[in-house]
Amino acid sequence: ERNKLQRLKSARPTTLDGEAIHLLANIELPKDAGEARKVGADGVGLFRTEFLFLNRHALPGEDEQFEAYRAALKYMGGAPVTIRTLDAGADKALETVGKRSTETNPALGLRAVRYSLSEPKMFLTQLRALLRASHHGKLKILLPMLAHAHEMDQCLAMVEQAKEQLRDTKHKFDPKVEVGGMIEVPAAALALGMFVRRLQFLSIGTNDLIQYTLAIDRTDEAVAHLYDPLHPAVLKLIGGTIQAGARYGLPVSVCGEMAGDPAYTRLLLGMGLKHFSMQPTQLLGVKQEILRADVGELAPKVQRILKMDEQDRVHEAVDRLAQV
Ligand code: PEP
Ligand code: MG
Repeated sequence: ERNKLQRLKSARPTTLDGEAIHLLANIELPKDAGEARKVGADGVGLFRTEFLFLNRHALPGEDEQFEAYRAALKYMGGAPVTIRTLDAGADKALETVGKRSTETNPALGLRAVRYSLSEPKMFLTQLRALLRASHHGKLKILLPMLAHAHEMDQCLAMVEQAKEQLRDTKHKFDPKVEVGGMIEVPAAALALGMFVRRLQFLSIGTNDLIQYTLAIDRTDEAVAHLYDPLHPAVLKLIGGTIQAGARYGLPVSVCGEMAGDPAYTRLLLGMGLKHFSMQPTQLLGVKQEILRADVGELAPKVQRILKMDEQDRVHEAVDRLAQV
């Protein structure tokens, strides 16, 4: 058994018909990257930086953030590490930020990139720390919860401003550091052109995409039974985003919980997904599915699923994919 597991860890995640898939890890603290490395992750697809900001009254400064980001890069030994800028608010309420007594719908409020843009000093500190760390490995910057072109334009202008400041203080950084965006608001998945033109990669956040598409608060137990990743509307948004990425030549990953659930691996492979990012403990289960899958066989079946508009039929068809 242990030998089998060890073989699985070192096996490349390639499908039966030879498609090379990238399995990446979601991490919350730099040391989680050590776990990711142990299970053979090809990199970090999502470093949720909120965890550096949790349970404390003062925000971490530029040097402390820089050390944390550099540590994650070091653990990954040259593999790419995608670091998301602060995703504060709603389900990730922080002591220091994103708490306003007047807010009645925090998931629709001043959270994530909206919050960062409203606190330019804090945002620039994080961007400088990220850029400085980019000198020490393959770091990519990921922006959460984008919906508007002007949000991306503002963020990209601030990345340039942070670079300018670092040039002034003679700090080194990777001038070509890639900037990508989360597709987790339905508006983004329905207006992909403006994202593709501004960003260098996309990452689908299915947790929020499902919340916002189906109008169910992901933290509210009373509506948890309505949280259906296989709702036809959700699948159309995910499938459309993956296809647009292929059309425009932009890498697309899924970093929401769907990517780590082996029950959805074949569905996502059939949509054309090549980058899966998940908790390190889920990686081998998904890899096992990939090793047994044939994308050429799955693709036409999944195309038919994407055209279905009855939830029960979708569920049955996805169950059937698992049996081939
Ligand atoms: C998501 O929304 O799917 C996601 C990956 O981000 P988070 O769960 O941190 O909101
Ligand atoms: Mg999210």
